[in-house]
Amino acid sequence: MKICIDPGHGMSNRQTGVYDPGVTHVENGFQFQEAAIALRYALTLKDVLRSRQVEVFMTRDDDTDQTPVGSRASMAKAAGCEALISLHLNDFDDDSANGLEVLFRDSDDKAVAQMLQDALIKATKMRDRKIKQRTDLAVLKFSGIAVLVELGFIANDEDRGKLLNAQIRDAITRTIAKVVVDHLAQT
Ligand SMILES: [Zn+2]
Repeated sequence: MKICIDPGHGMSNRQTGVYDPGVTHVENGFQFQEAAIALRYALTLKDVLRSRQVEVFMTRDDDTDQTPVGSRASMAKAAGCEALISLHLNDFDDDSANGLEVLFRDSDDKAVAQMLQDALIKATKMRDRKIKQRTDLAVLKFSGIAVLVELGFIANDEDRGKLLNAQIRDAITRTIAKVVVDHLAQT
């Protein structure tokens, strides 16, 4: 079993040689970046999957890896992955927007997206924004199982506080690993 973990944004995501931090939020002079938080989740998820004897392919390991958004799904395919998990944070004009949602592209992935959504809401007690089908996202154009988790809203104090908490990170990454590995084992 081999799974691709895709930490959203990063170097050359949209433009060659330009670092894309994703959504950002400044609090007391410190800038929180989606790309950095997503990477930390991805690296934790990698450890969790490896502890379950799952092979892992990362689209990027750090802030210098070149990862154009349009090439990530093909990188995962070339690496021989059966599933792709993309990790992101959300943003909205209104800082009160909050909650977690799982995005999917192919109708075949709706069931696993729903299982992931339910398990993550149960594990985090975050607001359930429901699963959403998105056919416009390049990263989800992957032949195997593909889901994108919008972990929460970076500008929402409660969401951000939770996502920066190591216990929540452990709970989220263990939940993602369990749902995806169980689903792959059954298909
Ligand atoms: Zn993003």
